[in-house]
Amino acid sequence: MTSIEQYKGQETAFGVNDKGYYGKFGGAYIPEMLYPNVEELQQNYLQIIHQTDFQEEFQDLLKNYVGRPTPLYYATRLSEKYKTNVYLKREDLCHTGAHKVNNTIGQILLAKRLGKHKIVAETGAGQHGVATATVCALMGLECIVYMGEIDIQRQAPNVARMKMLGAEVRPATSGSKTLKDATNEALRHWINNPVDTHYIIGSVVGPHPYPDMVARFQSVISEEIRSQLLEKIGKENPDYVIACVGGGSNAAGAFYHFLDEPEVKLIAAEAGGHGIHSGLSAATTFLGKPGVLHGSKSILMQTEDGQVVEPHSISAGLDYPGIGPLHAHLWDSGRAKFYAITDDESIEAGFELTKLEGIIPAIESAHALSVLKYLNAGVNETVVVNLSGRGDKDLATYMKYL
Ligand SMILES: *Cc1c(COP(=O)(O)O)cnc(C)c1O
Repeated sequence: MTSIEQYKGQETAFGVNDKGYYGKFGGAYIPEMLYPNVEELQQNYLQIIHQTDFQEEFQDLLKNYVGRPTPLYYATRLSEKYKTNVYLKREDLCHTGAHKVNNTIGQILLAKRLGKHKIVAETGAGQHGVATATVCALMGLECIVYMGEIDIQRQAPNVARMKMLGAEVRPATSGSKTLKDATNEALRHWINNPVDTHYIIGSVVGPHPYPDMVARFQSVISEEIRSQLLEKIGKENPDYVIACVGGGSNAAGAFYHFLDEPEVKLIAAEAGGHGIHSGLSAATTFLGKPGVLHGSKSILMQTEDGQVVEPHSISAGLDYPGIGPLHAHLWDSGRAKFYAITDDESIEAGFELTKLEGIIPAIESAHALSVLKYLNAGVNETVVVNLSGRGDKDLATYMKYL
């Protein structure tokens, strides 16, 4: 895929089809017990989110509650260092400190219009749990968050936040007592409460329509980047957009309106952990193979006989053994380029941004910043880095490196 003509031939190749596929990836691989819940969503989500009153309420909350549009900030000293033009999309300035709330607001408005008055979610590090508990408090809906028993011990501040926001945090006590077990429990809960409960998934993963739905809610990021670039540099397209990928929601949002713009290079930063050959990594596109995880076909890290491999990353948000099906397709088709950034590289990039610009990034976002040194972008080129979250939650980790 080098010539522009070839790219143009697949102008609509990156949207989801009506079966929920992006190329070979996606779909809805779910137990029969979940069909009614998932079908209800598949049949209604597009129609609901295109309604005028939905869009009005969504846009109003994004503006007045989340604080959008988030700035597109020209990072002068970082640009000098890398001899190019670096803009930071400041999702760290969203209410709750990361992009995740864009999606939970969209989903709770959808849940209300489907007549649901209870919310269930799963969380690993607690970031998605907090974003979900936040919008449940906002709307006065009951909120149950499943979380692995081990994660509850590791992530005490986020557990406290969820409780203060009125959510019930239920420990998942089976298996490795972490995210995948919490996901299983949340799905079981949804199967048993199909009529009154909506399940809010936190990334572009899960059965169709979740990946597409979450990408649409997060696409406000690239919509804003386009109009902000037009205002600042007189054109909508940058040369590069860089984002970190855990499940892939902030990257999907940052890439969305550039997917069919071949001149925009899409760059994804995965968590390399201790290095891709160390056995302690979460670099899915380097280590994974096609398979089914959490209800969709994608690339995932697995053993020869298909057991999911426990991932490792210094950043909780990237500590996931798969990627969403859109990203699997972007990787498979060559539309996006993937880098594996190690724990140490991400910490270095986090300190660098802090020293040069006075912004402490989430360690997840620092993975995206770390790609700048590999790009060799030109002095006249424009690079947008999606700063998915702020680093306050990561201070204890950063301090170990001080
Ligand atoms: C959760 C999280 C991520 C990773 O999730 P994606 O769905 O890949 O965006 C990245 N950055 C921050 C700050 C997060 O909280």
